[in-house]
Amino acid sequence: MIISNSKILFFLFTLLLSSIFGLDSICLSSVLASTVAMAAPGSVQKGDEEWRAVLSPEQFRILRQKGTEYPGTGEYVNFDKEGIYGCAGCKAPLYKSTTKFNAGCGWPAFFDAIPGAITRTVDADGRRTEINCAACGGHLGHVFKGEGFGTPTDERHCVNSVSLKFTPEKSSL
Ligand SMILES: [Zn+2]
Repeated sequence: MIISNSKILFFLFTLLLSSIFGLDSICLSSVLASTVAMAAPGSVQKGDEEWRAVLSPEQFRILRQKGTEYPGTGEYVNFDKEGIYGCAGCKAPLYKSTTKFNAGCGWPAFFDAIPGAITRTVDADGRRTEINCAACGGHLGHVFKGEGFGTPTDERHCVNSVSLKFTPEKSSL
């Protein structure tokens, strides 16, 4: 009896919300669902001032202003631990350590990204293809194809270390 009463109350409450905000229950549930979804494309939207508040000046310069770190200086250039590289801006998982290879180019190189994690955009001059975090749009670097590195995709995702945040693989218990 108590349960059915509370169900009725909830129904009336939903009706009340609907009449106030003009939202139907389907719309309400989709709003709720979107708040728990992780790293859906375009799911992280912040203005420049919000990004400045959470990023270091160097992270802001590279992620939000398409900067490039000086070659050979990045934290993950010569780094081969097992784990996941996430976006330094929004933490979305981007690359697995199993796709990292030594390209000798001065930046971390990967031959493939986690499916759906990045977007590709051809630069205005048509020469290079920019890669970005799909969730927050943060600039990662560029992708090059057909260089003959002998990787499964023949691609080199040339990513700034500053754009990445590494998380070690959880040790199996
Ligand atoms: Zn991101």
